Amino acid sequence: MNLIDGKKIASQILDELAKKIARFPRKIGLAVLMVGDNPGSQAYVRMKKKACAQLGIDSLTEQLDADTSPETVLQKIEVLNHTPAIDGILVQLPLPDHYNPQQITRAIDPNKDVDGFHPMNVGKLLLGEDGGFIPCTPHGIQLLLEKSQIEIAGKHVVIVGRSNIVGKPLAALLVQKRRGCNATVTIVHSQSEHLSDITRTADILIAAIGQPHFITNKLVKPGAVVVDVGINRMQDETGNVKLVGDVDFSSVAPIASWITPVPGGVGPMTIALLMQNTYESALRRG
Ligand code: NDP
Repeated sequence: MNLIDGKKIASQILDELAKKIARFPRKIGLAVLMVGDNPGSQAYVRMKKKACAQLGIDSLTEQLDADTSPETVLQKIEVLNHTPAIDGILVQLPLPDHYNPQQITRAIDPNKDVDGFHPMNVGKLLLGEDGGFIPCTPHGIQLLLEKSQIEIAGKHVVIVGRSNIVGKPLAALLVQKRRGCNATVTIVHSQSEHLSDITRTADILIAAIGQPHFITNKLVKPGAVVVDVGINRMQDETGNVKLVGDVDFSSVAPIASWITPVPGGVGPMTIALLMQNTYESALRRG
């Protein structure tokens, strides 16, 4: 078994970006809006701020109360859309229940939508058009595989999970007719019949489920590559919160050819690709 070192690959991407950003003629700005105090989201926002600071990107983080109205958030997005110093805007998900996340995502200028969730960017990804933003986690996974010299072209990739953030855009990306993609892709989800029969046909199995340790060795073909997207907060016997993936690492690692750890796998890549998208936006905007 070989470990896919997401931390190392992400830090190489950040080092390259740091050099480019140092040469960029003006300050680059990323705005992050967060509504409510979801502990997972707070941790992500902290990591995003830290990465911005490391690269010399100005980060503007606004933490809003959980009862903030969607109208207030829409107004803030409108202001940021027209603020020249801001190159990227993201609204941290999940949002409180009284929000329609699609309405919020659509309000962001597609040219500043560094998360790649606006329908314009989703459409460009599906069509294989350049000039959009690819969502950070799917792009991070594709790069993890490519930079680990794992062949994707022609391989059967099975993705467990069909969310708009991970499963669907990842399938759209890996199936593209372009270098580092060209996979045969199957998505399975909670309504899929014979799930384990399908996952056992995967050359590359990607778990984006949100269920701790869902993927055991019984669902994996020996020799498969296994990518664990899941980040689940669980309390251990002593009451400490620890992060666990969707893959039961100890049962799967012995039969996998390559596997990502949690933490230290996909997570750092998501942050690195967010920084890359923000730089890309600044380059395009000039
Ligand atoms: P969602 O909850 O939006 O989607 C989960 C998907 O898993 C759904 O499609 C759901 O099916 C499917 N699913 C749930 N239970 C089962 C089951 N028993 N059998 C088969 N399929 C099932 O989650 P996300 O995609 O947003 O996130 C998935 C995980 O990845 C989470 O742990 C999240 O924290 C993590 N994550 C990590 C990131 C990173 O940077 N590493 C970034 C984003 C997410 P259905 O559609 O039928 O309900």
